[in-house]
Amino acid sequence: MKILVINCGSSSLKYQLIDSESEAVLAKGLCERIGIDGRLVYQPAGGEKEMVEAAMPTHTEAIRMVLDYLVNEKTGILKSLDEVDAIGHRVLHGGAKLTSSVLIDDAAIAVIDECCDLGPLHNPANLMGIRACMELMPGKPNVAVFDTAFHQTMPPKAYMYGIPYEYYEKYQIRKYGFHGTSHSFVSKEAIKFLGLDKDNSKVIVAHLGNGSSISAVENGKCVDTSMGLTPLEGLVMGTRSGDLDPAVLEYIARKEGKDIFELLTMLNKKSGVMGVSGVSSDFRDLDEASKAGNERATLALDMFSYRVAKYIGSYVAAMNGVDAIAFTAGIGENDAAMREKICSYLGYLGITIDPEANSKRGSNQVISTPDSRVTVAVIPTNEELAIARETVELVK
Ligand code: AMP
Repeated sequence: MKILVINCGSSSLKYQLIDSESEAVLAKGLCERIGIDGRLVYQPAGGEKEMVEAAMPTHTEAIRMVLDYLVNEKTGILKSLDEVDAIGHRVLHGGAKLTSSVLIDDAAIAVIDECCDLGPLHNPANLMGIRACMELMPGKPNVAVFDTAFHQTMPPKAYMYGIPYEYYEKYQIRKYGFHGTSHSFVSKEAIKFLGLDKDNSKVIVAHLGNGSSISAVENGKCVDTSMGLTPLEGLVMGTRSGDLDPAVLEYIARKEGKDIFELLTMLNKKSGVMGVSGVSSDFRDLDEASKAGNERATLALDMFSYRVAKYIGSYVAAMNGVDAIAFTAGIGENDAAMREKICSYLGYLGITIDPEANSKRGSNQVISTPDSRVTVAVIPTNEELAIARETVELVK
């Protein structure tokens, strides 16, 4: 089957056309600045990357352009759109109702719409992408794959907050967790790659990118994760604060006369390693600045690794043990020094990192020594492939 995978943001969308039998990417690219001016990037497998500026007032025009490129005579890779079997959409929030991927119908759209309150930046954009595909390719099956779904197996003791129960009853305020498609893909890959018995396994997945989250996966099911009602909770991230004492907000509000919305923007966009270092949210810049003697960059990196190590420790406790720790995403896959720094806290788990294995890149790799009691591995994530696989499962 040929599956078009769509990941819509408010002013951008990423796409990949994937052949589900070979799992090869046939074409990929993105549309940026939707609603502003518009730019499309298109790259067929083995071909040159093309970039064009073109008006894209809405996601519908953006997707129409993508489809035109897929079938164009010169660089297209399809004879006609009939060859597209289904469309898989990344959707941020499925709330507590949509606990696994779904074939999209009116009822699913209504629930995704209800969840706009919980994912105000992403769900409306995800819906625009879904509606555009339904309009442009009528009759084709569309599947929604939720960032929150994999975490729906968490028990109440993990997902409830210690606040009055009425807020859960009235507004479904609880931990949902995000990056679920990645945590699901990487935990499954880790179990396969390391030859673990899925039904008797304890895996911790550290998805460390610009947004970062950790999950505890016992017997293939998520039992805890670090992000919460929103992606703000948990680790110190690129520009997000992660965990902090909520009273900090009241204190700053009083001192600086800021309202809750300004404070939330500060926590989402101006905090994390960017806010602490004042240098960058990108770990390559932070490494460079730290090596050049910038103490705040060093502090930001120390805070990041310390928080990750603390979360790993808490998930070992949550599962009463761990067989494997899997690093993934931009930092997890590429930053060997950060992996080593995090693992330097994990000697109590009998972990020793093999520097040569840790320096390799690009594929599944065990980076702990053979005599380590817990295996540490790098498992590159592939959310688009995971969405394509889920889509095939629902439409075949
Ligand atoms: P992601 O959100 O998964 O795309 O991850 C993006 C982040 O990964 C960037 O902001 C960088 O901080 C980090 N990153 C990517 N490549 C490297 C690298 N070679 N070394 C260190 N950090 C990297």
